[in-house]
Amino acid sequence: MTQVNINGQFSSADRLLLSLLKGIVDPLLILDDRQRVVLMNTAAEAVFGETSERAAGHTLKEIITQADDLIALLEDGSKTLNEWVSSDNKTFAPRVEVIRGDGGQVEGWIMVLRDITQYKKLNRNQSEFTRIVSHDLRSPLTSMQGFASMLQLGLVGELNEKQLHFVNKILAGITQMTALVDNIQDAGRYDPETGFYEVNRAPCDLGEIVRRIIENHLVPAEKELDIQVKVAEDLPIINADTNMLERAIINLVDNAIKYTPSGGSVKVEVKHAGNQVLVMVKDSGLGISPENQKHLFERHVRIPRQEHKKIKGSGLGLFIVRSVAQRHGGRAWVESQEDKGSTFYLSIPLEGANLVAPQA
Ligand code: ADP
Repeated sequence: MTQVNINGQFSSADRLLLSLLKGIVDPLLILDDRQRVVLMNTAAEAVFGETSERAAGHTLKEIITQADDLIALLEDGSKTLNEWVSSDNKTFAPRVEVIRGDGGQVEGWIMVLRDITQYKKLNRNQSEFTRIVSHDLRSPLTSMQGFASMLQLGLVGELNEKQLHFVNKILAGITQMTALVDNIQDAGRYDPETGFYEVNRAPCDLGEIVRRIIENHLVPAEKELDIQVKVAEDLPIINADTNMLERAIINLVDNAIKYTPSGGSVKVEVKHAGNQVLVMVKDSGLGISPENQKHLFERHVRIPRQEHKKIKGSGLGLFIVRSVAQRHGGRAWVESQEDKGSTFYLSIPLEGANLVAPQA
């Protein structure tokens, strides 16, 4: 690649390259070895309210307010910065490339600010939309559940067999819709990047959560599963959000039940492992190939296998599991082999805010 002479003398090849750079739609700056501006393209001029000529020879600090994060990026190559917000409230994803001379010495930097304002706006709109929809669907679902349960229990008159069968179908549909609405709501609010939910910490006993989930969990009538729970005796109490963790573990248990055919087994274990508390949900079900494991914890990812597609799902459960883990500084992952079952892990580190403060 042509080497740009950033000390001021440009060859004709440099000039061609520079006019190309000027035309790039995202703001772009070239800085010299002392982090002084050599060149800004037209988009950068618009964002910083400076012409390239006037900015030349000045440091970032002299031409931009809120420059500290960008300067830190130049000074420490290992640093990353997902977003930088300009004074006119545009959001950019910055990227820095070092320009090196033949001897490997730093001669300057190229900084590109990818404009993600529109993407952020769309994301916000989508989050707001799902928040409103999921919230507004909850109350009608609750009243439908109440009335259908009254019918089922015969509180408004005896039902014949066919009527009872239909009411049971209605209730099963309501349960399914409620689970979906819960997941849509949680995926929005727990999202570590855009979620507004604040982790509500209190002493939390993961063993008790797991036992409660298994006690209340409904396995479909047509399915026979051997379900076991094992909670370590030395399990520490952590300072965490019980509701969030409960929602994450419900999703793991739900999946283990859903994706394990009748006759299989599901084992839930909670233990103290090194510097973390570990929840493991192991099943003998459909399993997942290494290829399909790659993006499994991302939003709306479902496995494109016929056996999986037959089972209803929205691809939000594992995104919630990972979000809950991340919001507690932890991790979620899977070990699995196709057709041999899976083990899903959720780990919460025993450090920082997760530790229960010692009693005074
Ligand atoms: P879904 O609502 O589709 O179950 P999840 O995010 O919980 O969404 O899971 C994503 C996908 O991962 C599922 O569609 C399924 O294909 C796969 N999966 C999740 N848990 C298991 C499991 N225990 N065994 C096999 N596949 C699983």
